[in-house]
Amino acid sequence: MSHPPKSLWWDSLSQPLKIRESVDSNLELDVAIIGAGYTGLWSAYYLKQNEPNLKIGLIEANVAGFGASGRNGGWCSALFPVGLEKLAKQSDRQTAIRMQKTMFETVDEVARVIEKENIDAEWQKGGSYSIARDEIQLKRAKEEAAHFKEWGFSDDDFTFFNQTEATNRINAANILGTTFTPHCASINPAKLVRQLSDVVERMGVKIYENSKVTSFLKNKVFVNNYQINAKFIINATEAYRSNFKQYKRASIPVYSLMIATEPLSQVIWNEIGLKNRETFADYRNVIIYGQRTKDNRFAFGGRGAPYHYGSKIKSVFDQHARTHHDLLETLIDIFPVIKGVKVTHTWGGPLAIARDWAAHVTIDKNSNILSAGSYVGDGVGTSNLAGRTISDLILNKETNLTNLPWVQHKSRKWEIEPFRWIGVNSTLQMAKIADVVEKKFKKETFVTKLLSKLRGH
Ligand SMILES: Cc1cc2nc3c(=O)[nH]c(=O)nc-3n(C[C@H](O)[C@H](O)[C@H](O)COP(=O)(O)OP(=O)(O)OC[C@H]3O[C@@H](n4cnc5c(N)ncnc54)[C@H](O)[C@@H]3O)c2cc1C
Repeated sequence: MSHPPKSLWWDSLSQPLKIRESVDSNLELDVAIIGAGYTGLWSAYYLKQNEPNLKIGLIEANVAGFGASGRNGGWCSALFPVGLEKLAKQSDRQTAIRMQKTMFETVDEVARVIEKENIDAEWQKGGSYSIARDEIQLKRAKEEAAHFKEWGFSDDDFTFFNQTEATNRINAANILGTTFTPHCASINPAKLVRQLSDVVERMGVKIYENSKVTSFLKNKVFVNNYQINAKFIINATEAYRSNFKQYKRASIPVYSLMIATEPLSQVIWNEIGLKNRETFADYRNVIIYGQRTKDNRFAFGGRGAPYHYGSKIKSVFDQHARTHHDLLETLIDIFPVIKGVKVTHTWGGPLAIARDWAAHVTIDKNSNILSAGSYVGDGVGTSNLAGRTISDLILNKETNLTNLPWVQHKSRKWEIEPFRWIGVNSTLQMAKIADVVEKKFKKETFVTKLLSKLRGH
């Protein structure tokens, strides 16, 4: 039997976990959704809301929320993995701007549903800081703020605070300035995903757990010895997508790891700030992200764990002592006042990255198979947009969502092994080395440009 992953978030759930029924017969459905994370659940939510008569089944290998949706950093942000320039190349300037604005609205759409459905996700929309702690990071912060201005966004969407203003808000060691966007909320991700699964169930969607889909093709999904016939199939398995033969090289599972501290005293928080539970990151190359939780801990994460040969995903990869240790060191380096605090939880999980770093929502009109994902660690908000878009596509509606540039976007495939393993892990190592070199010699390396190019920023 499957178990939920270990994390601060799963430990915080107040309801004991009741595992739902598995698929134990052949089924006839209108829509079969593979994977009960945010993408699958938001798709079911909007489809059922727009067309209550649809017979929808969510088929989950483990338990709802088992994947990244139940164990992420809890940033419900307007971040989109593809930058405005790249989006404009795929469409045009106005459409790229519309995509970003749709992401801003998406954060508020999640808030609206949470309120309407009475979901306690520990939601607080305090915004997000990206801090700069050396001259190189400061340059990047100022450039990013200027970049948003060039694209017509105002200080209300993205702004820069100087050292004094920054320190008043987030008292990080050596802080020289920070950018700020109000378009981000801190949440408890497991509470959101588990309660959302209850909501869609109450709406009449059937969720099957412990039901691993072994393969699927046009109108047919196979689970053990059973066959599910469905008019539409949604592949909502994100990082796990590469386990299916036809998606083997469509994206790679990249591990992001997290730690949580014990609750910190009010004295410490008075020193640090983050009064509105703003999320925070900085301008280094290897991504880090953090939030002040509702119960006053730090939940802090970052990349840096290795990519595993052949795109393998295993529970043991959720733990990586070196990376967890580095995360704690980094957190203490940013906030020395927490030195000596206890780490109560360490965990991690895979997220999906496409070869061109682009997230997608697609429908194959011949097979009626849909897919959404490759959110590159920005999936909490983006999956809501994906769910609404999938609903419009299935219901054959042409809307302001179905003509966004990520719809029908096809990324090229990742390289075959061992080139994939060599390429991904050497880029990661280069990014790590670049951070050390930049800090020590105060000189920007080519790695930042390389990574920006990949991301299209
Ligand atoms: C540690 C970490 C931190 C992150 N932090 C953030 C953050 O702060 N903000 C943000 O926006 N994003 C973050 N992300 C990314 C974000 O969590 C994901 O993009 C998002 O949750 C993806 O949702 P999903 O529903 O598409 O996929 P998942 O939540 O991964 O769901 C996929 C589901 O499919 C199921 N499944 C897989 N294979 C099968 C099969 N064969 N049959 C049936 N079911 C199957 C899995 O069990 C899983 O439940 C983070 C990710 C990680 C790992």
